[in-house]
Amino acid sequence: MDYYIRTCAKAVDSAQQQITSEEIQMKWTPEAEEAIKKVPFFVRKRVRTRVEKEAEAAGNPLVSLTDVKATQARYLANMSSEIKGYQIETCFGPSGCPNRAIISDQLEARIEADVQKEDLLGFLKQHVKGDLKFHHEFRITLADCPNACSQPQIKDIGIIGACAPVVTDAPCSLCEACVEACKEDAIRIDTAKEVPVIDDDLCLKCGKCIPACPTGTLAEGQKGFRVQLGGKLGRHPQLAKELPGVYSAEQVRLIVKDCIRFYKQHSKLGRRFAQILQPADIEAIARRYPEI
Ligand code: SF4
Ligand code: SF4
Ligand code: SF4
Repeated sequence: MDYYIRTCAKAVDSAQQQITSEEIQMKWTPEAEEAIKKVPFFVRKRVRTRVEKEAEAAGNPLVSLTDVKATQARYLANMSSEIKGYQIETCFGPSGCPNRAIISDQLEARIEADVQKEDLLGFLKQHVKGDLKFHHEFRITLADCPNACSQPQIKDIGIIGACAPVVTDAPCSLCEACVEACKEDAIRIDTAKEVPVIDDDLCLKCGKCIPACPTGTLAEGQKGFRVQLGGKLGRHPQLAKELPGVYSAEQVRLIVKDCIRFYKQHSKLGRRFAQILQPADIEAIARRYPEI
């Protein structure tokens, strides 16, 4: 388990470093980095981006503590104007994380284009009494593998990259490399039949066992996305419930649109998707979208 956590953390660190060097380009003082960590997590990404833009516009090559404080004060004072009705995030996978189970780069942009058409901000303005807050926004996140760094379990819709192994006819050498690669203990070797056996209940579809197999006995099977619905934090936190399958990118887009339609039909006074979504609703959605 320690190895698993270290490996994941290393991958995320590496991905974060790549984001910093490839996309943002600005350097931060240690004091500024410490200060940004104290900004509430649900607005930290937005504030960080704003800090860099404003520091760059001011001709500061290095983001300082003063830059962070000034931007944070301006941002929090005008918070209501920053609300757009939804939040869509991804993990650091697109920056080159080696753990990605599937490449989902275009999916985020396509989902955002779909969501923009739904005018969730207009919907919230009609249905929420008083000022809109960030916690009213509809939240979607993509994680490119089951390590789930972008926390899909606590979002309205969590989308997780999946690559499930299948057993082919290629003879197994009984090397057990797949068993070693699997951190879920989801593979055992049937030595009598000389085949690997995958426990579907334990398998998280991370795909790590597939490249570990030297003989091609394990190959890519279902490749797409797992979908979790109805997670939230707040006063009554709850983890999202998973639809029972792996879905294509196009199916994911349809599921997202379906969920937003459901939310707009049933949400009153700013109630969150997680508060109105019942187990029967999840079952109905699952019936409408058979897995790939
Ligand atoms: S969730 Fe994303 S960033 Fe985290 S380990 Fe998986 S691919 Fe990498
Ligand atoms: S895809 Fe499943 S069986 Fe293979 S390593 Fe990941 S969890 Fe284990
Ligand atoms: S399935 Fe592949 S990795 Fe697993 S024991 Fe057989 S040959 Fe080795």
